[in-house]
Amino acid sequence: AEKDWQMMLRLRNPGGRVPGTLFLAIDELADRLGNGSLRVTTRQAFQMHGVRKENLKEVIGTIVRELGSTLAACGDINRNVMAPAAPFEKGAYPAARKLADDIADLLAPQAAEGSYLDLWVDGELSYRIKPSPAVAKIKALQQEGAVFSGDAAEPLYGDTYLPRKFKVAVTVPGDNSVDLLTQDIGLVLFCDPQGSPLGCNVYVGGGMGRTHNKEETFARTADRLGYVAYGHVLELLQAIVALQRDHGDREQRRHARMKYLIHDRGVDWFRQELQERYFAHPIKAMRLEPKTKLEDYLGWHRQSRGLWFVGLPVLCGRLSGEFKSGLRRLVDTYKLEVRLTPNQDLLLCNIGTSQRSTIRAALAELGMDAPEAPAPLQRHALACPALPLCGLAVTEAERILPSVLERLEAQLKRLEISRSVLVRITGCPNGCARPYMAEIGLVGSGVDQYQLWLGGTPNLSRLAEPYLEKMPLDDLETTLEPLLKAWQSAGGRRSFGDFVVNSGRDTVQQWLEAAAG
Ligand code: SF4
Repeated sequence: AEKDWQMMLRLRNPGGRVPGTLFLAIDELADRLGNGSLRVTTRQAFQMHGVRKENLKEVIGTIVRELGSTLAACGDINRNVMAPAAPFEKGAYPAARKLADDIADLLAPQAAEGSYLDLWVDGELSYRIKPSPAVAKIKALQQEGAVFSGDAAEPLYGDTYLPRKFKVAVTVPGDNSVDLLTQDIGLVLFCDPQGSPLGCNVYVGGGMGRTHNKEETFARTADRLGYVAYGHVLELLQAIVALQRDHGDREQRRHARMKYLIHDRGVDWFRQELQERYFAHPIKAMRLEPKTKLEDYLGWHRQSRGLWFVGLPVLCGRLSGEFKSGLRRLVDTYKLEVRLTPNQDLLLCNIGTSQRSTIRAALAELGMDAPEAPAPLQRHALACPALPLCGLAVTEAERILPSVLERLEAQLKRLEISRSVLVRITGCPNGCARPYMAEIGLVGSGVDQYQLWLGGTPNLSRLAEPYLEKMPLDDLETTLEPLLKAWQSAGGRRSFGDFVVNSGRDTVQQWLEAAAG
């Protein structure tokens, strides 16, 4: 007899945007044909677990008919494109969302789309992705073979796709909601005061995944490539993908992400190679950016004239039970749109001024009476699904996050520390919840044991460093106690991550050893 297969599927939601009708459809599918819950991923997409093989056609077919897609949400190809989730109509936000949509369309596979529609909606071509004119022009050039490998079925990706997965995020100056430096390509879009796009600062070569005890694998923050005029940004994206397609390591999968290519050969080589063979337009010096912040948009915000949105904190992005059905009622009754953030939170958008008070009351009934003020440690903590949902997990993450945060919160309170700390946990070193950017990162290294990473920043601007290889979870408080006490004695003015880095590796190591002794 055939095995009882069940699948995880993930949607393609550039910038985390989920129209209300699509949300209602996947919510219903999750109840009827999934495991009854939905999960907001750290790349702003919905993920559904427990879909049985025989139900895949109904599930994916329904998603496509509701104008969603799961195409290229996994695999050695460009993944969900991230962008600030907030539906602000001010500043560079609208243009950043548009750029993210364009990039998602530009880097979507072309030939595979036909087979995808054949498989799931009986070849109904009206569900094809309809790119903007600028993207359609570049894609037509791809197909004519004028750009890159014209004889392959997939003109940009070639017959063998990319050596490994590929991740892109767009943001606006100052807003680091998207964890920009962890991406293969990170773009910061500058606009003029009227919101017309001018150009992008481009970062390349970030990536989180690594393997324990394999020194040749490592987490890496992206390098600064330069500034490119807006009219050439899509061509640049395509050029970078082609360069990685041609030069990325296809021998060793562990060494195949673009971060290794850039680490091994240097960003100057990368820029020169781009300019000589792939990209004919200028790459200038980076523009100055303001200090960045991890924006989370929790609570109520003005979206545009007469419209509001509310950001709801969702620990681990898991929607289930009463909260899930309550959200469904609100989206259905008020015809709201949903947006997902990289912090695994959810924004209810397009709320009319006159609907605010009823929606506020309905949210209070769901336990969200102060969505703008979740418990401080919970606010920015992340965990990946890990056990029992992920085949790569060596230990727990999502299921232990609430208790880990409670324990740390109690410890901070006991030590009279009022500042918060950014905590992230994953069940293996693959790093889906980007633990290497956290101030305290726990990376599963054995059953109930974690590698301890310290030294990231609250605004996700610096990579943390590993300090302990296998810390039993039970030892969490005793391990951190001397370090937290020293932070407290120093006045707690700096963030915890900055305190760790400024104290110096040897000193921190001594505090940790003192705890072990
Ligand atoms: Fe990703 Fe590893 Fe967590 Fe699985 S266990 S979700 S691969 S980090």
